[in-house]
Amino acid sequence: MFTPFQNEPYVNFAEDGPRQKMLDALARVQKELGRTYPIVIGGQRIVTEQMRASHNPACWRQIVGYTYDAPAELADEAVQAATEAFRTWSRVPPEVRARYLVKAAAILRRRIYEFCAYLVYEASKNWNEAYADAAEAIDFLEFYAREAVRWGQPHPTTPYPGEENEVRYIPLGVGVSISPWNFPLAIATGMAAAAIVTGNTVIMKPAEQTPVLAAKIYELFEATSLPPGVLNYLPGAGEVIGEALTGHPGVRFVSFTGSRDVGLHIYQRIATHQPGQKWLKRAILEMGGKDAIIVDEDVNLDGAAEGVVASAFGFQGQKCSACSRLIAHTKIYDALLEKVVERASRLTVGDPANPANYMGAVIDEEAYNRILQYIAIGRAEGRVVLGGEETEHPGEGYFIHPTIIADVDPDARIAQEEIFGPVLAVIRANDFDHALAIANNTCYGLTGGVYSYNRMHLERARHEFHVGNLYFNRKITGALVDVQPFGGFNLSGTDSKAGGRDYLGLFLQAKSISERW
Ligand code: NAD
Repeated sequence: MFTPFQNEPYVNFAEDGPRQKMLDALARVQKELGRTYPIVIGGQRIVTEQMRASHNPACWRQIVGYTYDAPAELADEAVQAATEAFRTWSRVPPEVRARYLVKAAAILRRRIYEFCAYLVYEASKNWNEAYADAAEAIDFLEFYAREAVRWGQPHPTTPYPGEENEVRYIPLGVGVSISPWNFPLAIATGMAAAAIVTGNTVIMKPAEQTPVLAAKIYELFEATSLPPGVLNYLPGAGEVIGEALTGHPGVRFVSFTGSRDVGLHIYQRIATHQPGQKWLKRAILEMGGKDAIIVDEDVNLDGAAEGVVASAFGFQGQKCSACSRLIAHTKIYDALLEKVVERASRLTVGDPANPANYMGAVIDEEAYNRILQYIAIGRAEGRVVLGGEETEHPGEGYFIHPTIIADVDPDARIAQEEIFGPVLAVIRANDFDHALAIANNTCYGLTGGVYSYNRMHLERARHEFHVGNLYFNRKITGALVDVQPFGGFNLSGTDSKAGGRDYLGLFLQAKSISERW
């Protein structure tokens, strides 16, 4: 019924057309900043006592918009509204549910520059990063729409004489979707879309730092005439409304993307049976990383340096897939380090509304202070070869220049703990065996990369480099929907493979029905 899935193409902002459209959108959206976005439960707009201002990380004075923090008491109301909506939504055929997603994708595609402008203002993404985030959101909508139709088709069983047997996949119930700020459009859209298209109803709890983009996602779905209560928008503090939702007995599943410690906490919380709870809650958890690129001897060092710098400093290093450890073979260590430092030193840092700036600000003051603390730790754990100095401070924006710390021990804190900022630890490996051992030596397992021309080394890495997303001779960020399904091992999460063909199964349960004639 739908045309085959294709990834949304990117645009080239060096060309006049896209450049002008982006400039126009930035100017238009700037005039809209400061608007207020209420909570939405069952289609009803709700305001509370506690208003939250969302700031532009690159220009803190600028308020992107205001939202209302949902108090814990609203969790119950939201679960009730979603439960009510589930009764009818769960009976809507998959291909009809899929059309809501395709429609949402069409609207988003028409308004993509406007959404990009919000990504620049609220998340401090540069133009290309913003476009990639929006294009991924479109991909999730289009891909999951087609996937829902596929999952809805008959599933084969072994024939049995005198009986009709079928296995069908049915929705779970009311879900909570808890998202991070770093892909505020793609991840929040993808998690909500997967829940909805499989016949569940969902309560969207976005990150505190990017609630306006989540309100825009709500408006997007509302514009498709999605029935009230299928999607509900409950922004607010994770420790308050997030906690109330994950502990609610009426919630059937929690789909979370965020940090390791919050993921672990949610895992434990939803495993605890609550009075009146009739099921085991399901957890879909995608968490942090401490991702490494191994550079072997005898490779093109310019190509490797380019991939490392893009992976480490794109979006200020604030991607779960970002390269935060460079593990270099001792034979090329010094030469590679020089090239990486030279490239990184040319990156421009500043307000990403200006396309001349490659890196924007880090998300907020808390992130800024945490990253600076890690740089201070790194000063004692290695040799700072780029950045590291106190950057011009806040007031205006939370900018941190690319920082590279060389000669770091594999067990050092900056080689083990997720920093989530533009800080790269460089580690020396004696040989390829040593490099692989270092790469696998963290509690995470999200992304990893190898630059090598040695076939045996690449084949070993295929088996032994224990990460959910492994890349050879390219950067380790920028996974595309259904090209590189995304999700990690170990404490990086439940390996849910967002944007992959198994993903929707996590939002469904199989029912076997047998009729004897
Ligand atoms: P975070 O864990 O601080 O917050 C994520 C979400 O959890 C937010 O909406 C927050 O409000 C909510 N939350 C916090 N405490 C909660 C609680 N007690 N109960 C319920 N919800 C709660 O993460 P962040 O800073 O927003 O995002 C960055 C992290 O996300 C990094 O660790 C990054 O690696 C990870 N991440 C992982 C992936 C992936 O696919 N594996 C993708 C993007 C980001």
